[in-house]
Amino acid sequence: MRPTHYRALGLLALSAARVAAWEFPSSLFQIPFLSAPELDVDSQQPEPPESTQNERTFESLVPPRIAIIGSGASGSSAAFWIAKARERHGLNVGIDIYEENGFVGGRTLSVHPYDNESYPVQELGAASFVKAAHLNLQRAADEFGFQLRDAVDPDSGVGIWDGEQMRFEVTPHFSLDFSNIISDMWRFGNAHDTANAVIDDATSKLLSLYSPLSARWSTVEELVELLNFTTHLSRDTTHYLKERQVEDAYIEEVIEPKTRSLYGQDTTEVHALAGIVAMLCPHSRVVGGISQIWEKFIESSNATLRLNTKVTKLRYKRYRDTPWRVQTSTGAEASYSAVLIAAPFHSTGISLPGALASQIPRQPYIRLHVALVVTKSERVNDKMFGRIGGAQGSFPEVVYTTNGAARDGGEASQITVISYLQQLSEEEWVVRVVSREEIPDETLKNVFNGHVSWVHRKTWDTAYPLLTPGQAVGPIRLDKGLYFVNSLEPMLPSMEAATVASRNIVDLVLQEQFNVSWCTSHPDSPLGRDSLLGWDY
Ligand SMILES: Cc1cc2nc3c(=O)[nH]c(=O)nc-3n(C[C@H](O)[C@H](O)[C@H](O)COP(=O)(O)OP(=O)(O)OC[C@H]3O[C@@H](n4cnc5c(N)ncnc54)[C@H](O)[C@@H]3O)c2cc1C
Repeated sequence: MRPTHYRALGLLALSAARVAAWEFPSSLFQIPFLSAPELDVDSQQPEPPESTQNERTFESLVPPRIAIIGSGASGSSAAFWIAKARERHGLNVGIDIYEENGFVGGRTLSVHPYDNESYPVQELGAASFVKAAHLNLQRAADEFGFQLRDAVDPDSGVGIWDGEQMRFEVTPHFSLDFSNIISDMWRFGNAHDTANAVIDDATSKLLSLYSPLSARWSTVEELVELLNFTTHLSRDTTHYLKERQVEDAYIEEVIEPKTRSLYGQDTTEVHALAGIVAMLCPHSRVVGGISQIWEKFIESSNATLRLNTKVTKLRYKRYRDTPWRVQTSTGAEASYSAVLIAAPFHSTGISLPGALASQIPRQPYIRLHVALVVTKSERVNDKMFGRIGGAQGSFPEVVYTTNGAARDGGEASQITVISYLQQLSEEEWVVRVVSREEIPDETLKNVFNGHVSWVHRKTWDTAYPLLTPGQAVGPIRLDKGLYFVNSLEPMLPSMEAATVASRNIVDLVLQEQFNVSWCTSHPDSPLGRDSLLGWDY
């Protein structure tokens, strides 16, 4: 890597690794102009001749096609990367995306408060990313001209609730620089600096994946070794940080609120890499919903998008140039050179030939409940949240949680985070409540001092992988021409990581099917500050 590039990545690493507020959220959009009716691709082509030799000759005249199953962050970005490679190398390759839902986006979804389009969309699923560390999403937002806004208003007050009482609060005025305030607070000693050193180290390794000189990896294990993350993945966040002299209180009151708000899991439950990544900030959202990025990825790839089309089975026909046959729930079939599975495998219901499926370990996922609430209460219920701190008259607009009270034998909080997202009118706010168990209507009412005007609930059954340390991960390449994008998810569970995983897989497919790779066409191009693998090389 050239020095300029190192410097650029280093700067990004430092600016990324700062403690602030992360919150959830996204978008429900149909793209009718991209939708195509279910059709049997093969039925549009003449029947291939019988003999193997003739079959090859016939099929090599047909431009190869790649099938992508799933149109979330993984699938839509895979289509985008294939299109980039097609353009760069002049490849003649078609793309079909199969999506079970009637809309693009997977775990990103948004609604209008009161289901009234005059109110701005609010996200029910994934939405925010870290500008300085999630470089593909940042670049996509720039290239497609989307406006970004802070995921959490820097003027928001923040509270940390342990299920029984508010452990501490940072008032709106001071939360402008939450990280400095925390570092100065006596309760955490120098834990903030110690934690930041750990975060900076992991961030600079992750940022190396955007370098044009980044190696491609064939297995998740190879990537783990490449980035030296073996220890991070074998220890839970609490133990890993304690071993590095980060104080208990800091882990419980600063880091756990982040892992709970992001993954719905405690620091004792998630491996250290996920714990560290949860600390990256500040976060941005795309105004109008992050799904717009997935839609643009698909639109610019010229892929054929088959909405409402569930893939049920993959079959393999030996000796053909397009050996993979994709079967859908209507029984229609089409042939492909390669297939990319871009969804948590065990929730797809896809049957694979032979023993291929047994290579993918059954990955447990956590279920999360999201309630989007419109309330006339500008603050959460002081009594219910046992508020003891905070400047007079101030109140937290974001309530993070820690499982601290339960560890001491007290009440566990099922709520993982409450965020006031936006003021809708003079006296109405839209708030998102995320929890591990569904919050009953009565409790929700109590949270908002009796004022709940509208609620929209969404349960995510496969919200996040359980991020248990030391668990087995699935292969990236299941067979020749068959790839599994979400094998990286138990290591790095984010939209950005999905785009990095799909970029790597497209590189592997390019090698396997066309004997080309990202960088080969521009070996002499200078490495600029903003040069990114996949985008510029
Ligand atoms: C509440 C919540 C908040 C989150 N917040 C954030 C956040 O702020 N930032 C962040 O980076 N990440 C966040 N995440 C995680 C993020 O959503 C995921 O990491 C990311 O969306 C994964 O994308 P994916 O494309 O791999 O999978 P998915 O988004 O799950 O997409 C898979 C797609 O495949 C389709 N599919 C499945 N089976 C079939 C089949 N048989 N045939 C056809 N189609 C099929 C599905 O319908 C789906 O559209 C959040 C997740 C949740 C649940």
